[in-house]
Amino acid sequence: MKEQISIQDRELAEEAKEALARYLARTGWKKFHLKAALIDMDGVLYDSMKYHTLAWVKMMTEMGVPCTREEFYAYEGMTGTATIALLLKRAFGKVLSDEELREKYKIKTNYFKLDGKKELMPGADRMLKSLMDADIDRVLVTGSAQSTLLGSLDGDYPGAFTPEKRVTALDVKHGKPDPEPYLKGQLKAGAKPWECMVIENAPLGVQSGVASGSFTVAVTTGPIEREKFVEAGADMIFDSMPEFADALPQLIDILKNNR
Ligand code: CA
Repeated sequence: MKEQISIQDRELAEEAKEALARYLARTGWKKFHLKAALIDMDGVLYDSMKYHTLAWVKMMTEMGVPCTREEFYAYEGMTGTATIALLLKRAFGKVLSDEELREKYKIKTNYFKLDGKKELMPGADRMLKSLMDADIDRVLVTGSAQSTLLGSLDGDYPGAFTPEKRVTALDVKHGKPDPEPYLKGQLKAGAKPWECMVIENAPLGVQSGVASGSFTVAVTTGPIEREKFVEAGADMIFDSMPEFADALPQLIDILKNNR
């Protein structure tokens, strides 16, 4: 019953097809057939960024490093140790050893544990259900090593991520915006770049997804303006997770069957 397809659905289909054409042009791949979703954690599955930024400012202020909460949204996706290295170099011109960086990161993860509340991102459960229903493989790809949330995934999103289908800060040398996390995600999915959709909420994460050659969706879930995701090269941009979850069944159909 074609006449019952809503204008909204038609607009999404148009937008997705245009995005796909642009994606093929930018990557040079001949085709795209969705098999796996590579999914970021903070700001996508958990509404956790506000607590991360609080923990960062608390820890850095104690160390005498001038900083603002806002700037940590811009660093989102980098590993914790890379973020610490960046700020300490900026403030004191200091270069720390890997071991020192890990020690400092423990302070931040501890503040997050103490002061943070675990909040599921609205729409994330529907997103995962649509992917599972359509038999799209899921791989977690996060710059975090924060056990508070990683340990909760199974309980909060049962069956969404098997233990071997996770890339965390501990699995990579270079965090986002380097493509390594999403290239590892493709490997864990056993899929090619032209079979994977990256789902991200941070500009550095989008850059990583784009550089990995996969179709990269940005979802705005924090204070970062849309323009930053355009600059980062996102193939499609959604204004919230519920909006993305609404669109996903139709988007999967288009990206899976390429029609
Ligand atoms: Ca994120």
